Amino acid sequence: MEKNIIAINECAKECHMAAVNGGWWHDDNGVKKDRNVGELLCLIHSEISEAMEGARKDLMDTHLKHKTMMEVELADAMIRIFDLAESRGFNLGETIYEKLAYNKTRADHKIENRLKKGGKKF
Ligand SMILES: [Mg+2]
Repeated sequence: MEKNIIAINECAKECHMAAVNGGWWHDDNGVKKDRNVGELLCLIHSEISEAMEGARKDLMDTHLKHKTMMEVELADAMIRIFDLAESRGFNLGETIYEKLAYNKTRADHKIENRLKKGGKKF
């Protein structure tokens, strides 16, 4: 698990550095700036919406033509999530595993409870 945490965080750093090097984290004078978190979250959501459209229409991606649009847009969403997480200094790798472990303890995630009236259907 530890190596996965490290790999996830390394990927987050790489995604953030790509965005920094692309100029997304600097103003027009080259000065480092913070970005509007609401805007960044909406951009993540926009990638998820693109993935949904690809799935809905069973489309192939127009850039990576050998991949489905859904797969590529999910990758875009991950890239944006990693960029945002790294910009905030989050330990996303650790948090993913911590949340996975916590979710195993949740009553509302247990199959028998999900099948009850009012349980989570999806
Ligand atoms: Mg995209």
